[in-house]
Amino acid sequence: AVLLQKELVKDDVFWGYNRCHILDRLRLDGKVAYVTGGGQGIGRAFAHALGEAGAKVAIVDLVLAKAEVVAEELSLKGIKNMAIGADVSKPEDVQRILDAIVARWGTVHIACNNAGINMNSASEDTSLEEWDKTFNVNLRGLFLCCQAAGRIMLKQGYGKIINTASMASLIVPHPQKQLAYNASKAGVVKLTQTLGTEWIDRGVRVNCISPGIVDTPLIHSEDLKPLVQRWLTNIPAGKLAQVTDLQAAVVYLASEASDYMTGHNLAIEGGQSLW
Ligand code: NAD
Repeated sequence: AVLLQKELVKDDVFWGYNRCHILDRLRLDGKVAYVTGGGQGIGRAFAHALGEAGAKVAIVDLVLAKAEVVAEELSLKGIKNMAIGADVSKPEDVQRILDAIVARWGTVHIACNNAGINMNSASEDTSLEEWDKTFNVNLRGLFLCCQAAGRIMLKQGYGKIINTASMASLIVPHPQKQLAYNASKAGVVKLTQTLGTEWIDRGVRVNCISPGIVDTPLIHSEDLKPLVQRWLTNIPAGKLAQVTDLQAAVVYLASEASDYMTGHNLAIEGGQSLW
């Protein structure tokens, strides 16, 4: 037993950790985070998860009232927070988000770029307006947020960026009518891989999460309902994901436990991409 103990201590030194408890390494105490699209659905669940793990959280949403409701929920749990109304596709709004967070909490450590929209039309009928609107939020907005948060993180030599992509970046669920959405989410993955490798030697990790079909307001639009019923038959897990199925992943990617991970696309999709 003494020998084993000595081996463990040697290992401890080898690993370089003072705190070996894995749950400690998942804590986010003292960290400052923001979540875009935090007013409902997946973003709301991410805001709760990051806050419960110890971070202060800025909830950002196009609709300020929705962000304020989530802020109120976090306050009830004793989580420090702020609500910000902003459109992530506008550079001036994105700068205002970061300025407000830095003014209140000094910096940002965790950027959760989650806001996204989905529009559905057959590819031959997809208008330029629909294409641009989808890309403006899903890819341009995400790029603006990565860049603005990234500049702060690079300066301090530390940061965790977690982008929300989609299972649609990996496969094309059939039948579907989401040309612009799928293309924009594939772009999110490539952007994540590029930033992830470019910034890792300056302390900034960039990863993304690709949810499968999650039970949020996004998928309950009238035109998506029949498609969702068809897609359900192709999910090995046999059911939709709940937002709670994604929460541990965002905490992991925001924490020091995932420091060796960058540019990764973490699929949480009930096996759908393997079907
Ligand atoms: P949702 O529609 O329920 O919520 C999205 C939130 O983003 C809303 O509160 C909305 O007001 C906000 N938002 C929209 N445009 C914005 C903008 N320009 N600026 C700031 N906020 C904006 O969606 P969700 O299902 O929670 O999806 C969140 C993310 O997850 C999206 O990127 C989506 O593409 C992705 N995703 C969702 C699913 C799913 O099945 N629900 C699957 C894969 C990926």
